[in-house]
Amino acid sequence: MSAGERGVFNAAYEPLLFAVDRVPFPESGREQETLDAFETFCASGHVAALLLEPLVLGAGGMKIYPASVLSELKRIAERHRSLFIADEVMTGWGRTGPLFACEQAGIAPDILCTSKGLTGGALPLAATLCTAEIFDAHLSTDRRRTFFHSSSYTANPIACAAALANLEIWMTEPVRARVEALEAKQRSRLQRFEGDPRFCNIRQVGTIAALDLAVPVGGYLSEVGPRLRAFFRERRLLIRPLGNVIYLMPPYCVTDADLDRAYDAIDEAASAFVAGRL
Ligand SMILES: *Cc1c(COP(=O)(O)O)cnc(C)c1O
Repeated sequence: MSAGERGVFNAAYEPLLFAVDRVPFPESGREQETLDAFETFCASGHVAALLLEPLVLGAGGMKIYPASVLSELKRIAERHRSLFIADEVMTGWGRTGPLFACEQAGIAPDILCTSKGLTGGALPLAATLCTAEIFDAHLSTDRRRTFFHSSSYTANPIACAAALANLEIWMTEPVRARVEALEAKQRSRLQRFEGDPRFCNIRQVGTIAALDLAVPVGGYLSEVGPRLRAFFRERRLLIRPLGNVIYLMPPYCVTDADLDRAYDAIDEAASAFVAGRL
């Protein structure tokens, strides 16, 4: 919570949070500023770790940045012996194409967080992966060094069975081809909004498609978010915009007809908004 952006998500805990240094998001054309900022922090000699969401900032607005930034950040982290922690909770399990988004940058993080897609989204389970070096540093026969917390449902057998079933599918079925097919379907459907003045920032990474409804005041708490969600729900679609940012991250089993229905509803919602009916 301390590492996350300060705002509505963690405001209630503000007095309890510790200070962290933040690098700016690598905005298009200004990626070097991000790298320079990280380099400067590292040069000060007290950076324990860099924690980031690879390729896509999710709840922060589905903001996309190139893999080259990721590999450069990893290079800087390595040079300064800073740990590189990738939060792949959203991007893991093929969301951006390969199994993990870090693969697109040809890097392996020191610590990787995975959850949502671990069970194919079917049951709640998370895993934190780390290098052997980190694992060995914590491995001990001294029971006082046990990780004592959150043990009630740790490695819940039913959730683990779902994760194993998911792994089996990944290892025996053409999952990558399916992910690529969904990627292409999203791309072709997004095209209808190219140049449409009702939207801006039409973007896609892997199977994630996002676009911003053109509104005077955007952001996570934008008034239009809940109204859009209600509009979609009336049409029996679970689409939860981040403020005015509408995104589709469909399950891999989504049908063409359902995708069409979702895009038609987005089109309708934008028309309703422009006509003042939303
Ligand atoms: C959903 C999500 C989380 C939240 O994970 P919890 O296990 O529910 O706390 C963290 N990071 C990213 C990138 C997410 O998409």
